[in-house]
Amino acid sequence: MQIGRWNHQSSNSDSHSSVHSSSYQRGKYSARPSYGSRRDSSFSRRNGSRPADRGNYGRGGYGSHGHAGARRGGFGSFGETEAEISKFMNKAVVSTEEPVFVPEHKFSDFDINDHLKKNIAARKYELPTPIQDKAIPHALLGQDVVGLAQTGTGKTAAFLIPLIDKVVKQKGERVLIMAPTRELAVQIEKELAGFARGLGFRGMVAVGGANIGPQISMLRNDPAFVIGTPGRLKDLMERRALDLSGFGTVVLDEADRMLDMGFIDDMRIILSKMRKERHTLFFSATMSKDIERLIGDFLTSPVIISVKMRDTPSSIDQDVVRIPRGKDKFEVLANLLKDREFSRVLVFGRTKFGVEKLAKALSRLHIHAESIHGNKTHGARLRALEALKAGKVNVLVATDVAARGLDIPAVSHVINYDLPSTYEDYVHRIGRTGRASLKGRALTFIQDR
Ligand code: AMP
Repeated sequence: MQIGRWNHQSSNSDSHSSVHSSSYQRGKYSARPSYGSRRDSSFSRRNGSRPADRGNYGRGGYGSHGHAGARRGGFGSFGETEAEISKFMNKAVVSTEEPVFVPEHKFSDFDINDHLKKNIAARKYELPTPIQDKAIPHALLGQDVVGLAQTGTGKTAAFLIPLIDKVVKQKGERVLIMAPTRELAVQIEKELAGFARGLGFRGMVAVGGANIGPQISMLRNDPAFVIGTPGRLKDLMERRALDLSGFGTVVLDEADRMLDMGFIDDMRIILSKMRKERHTLFFSATMSKDIERLIGDFLTSPVIISVKMRDTPSSIDQDVVRIPRGKDKFEVLANLLKDREFSRVLVFGRTKFGVEKLAKALSRLHIHAESIHGNKTHGARLRALEALKAGKVNVLVATDVAARGLDIPAVSHVINYDLPSTYEDYVHRIGRTGRASLKGRALTFIQDR
């Protein structure tokens, strides 16, 4: 049986080994057709056709695993050479071509609370995704787990399900979840609220950009789950509003992002204040020396599960929109967005200022757009997100950091108005579309020089 995007070939898993590895990479994909010359995929406004309709796609993406992301930190962009541009072109492939993942477990097999099982079914999760299939049994046994998995693999439920069960079974157990961004923390709390419905507890979100007062009050009620960003968690600890000595379980979600964002010292301080005997679940999309060191310092004999996806999902049709020299790319964007097919669009810009300006300029043309970026308050960002989800606006203009980890249903298009800094950022951006077995489209603007 095929479940959404989680089609992969299950690999051997030796239940006695401390290391399980489940390959979620390219499986049987070796040859992919080339769909004509990539030069031909330039956007033609004269006949109004969009590149995605024209079927001119190059071979992109699958040649390497995207570690061009190593360019992070420079001032350049990814996509300035023809070889890099080719990675923005990839025809979506019919999912039946993909190897099918057969989970070893059903949710009903797990030794978890019956009410929790009902909540999982109510969320219409039929079968576990690879990361859930492999991680949940170990987490239920209290083992430390390292999950090498990115957003879109179902990693959130992979840690929430066993930890909710733990909190139900072990009264007084408290869980700390650290995440890199406010949006991701809010999203985790939403999933938690769904799975924990009727079980008698909830979580709270402790993030910056929001008033600290209500967070301090909520902490007085000793919530079972505290979900926060490292900076605000440390702030709350310093104000003596958060005492971590009673917390025996911690999740580090998107640990590589937290390192990238400079949270390493805060993370170490926070972990050092928790109980010595600790249950730690650690998730990261990538493995690096720093990540290895963190795992070595803070986890005990962890089970390592790798479910890395192909660098870009095949459910996303990717192409470039070439902007001829001298042509204004804003005009091209506005024309695209007037098309009704562009029903729910995420547009990526490089700077907070540019993103704000772009959303305003679109609104002036009566293209309903909102923006999210780091200069907006937490509340304003949430409102913008909700407006898109509710269909009040069709377009959300975002910076990379603000959009990290967002799970917005049915995004029809991702448009890279400004080039991403790295290939890794590109993969993160376009991962906002083509989710949950829907097809999505990603267009990257390339200004001809
Ligand atoms: P995540 O990687 O945790 O951000 O999850 C990506 C999306 O997949 C979210 O919308 C989840 O609600 C959804 N999802 C996670 N696990 C399952 C599952 N077993 N079946 C169906 N949908 C799922």
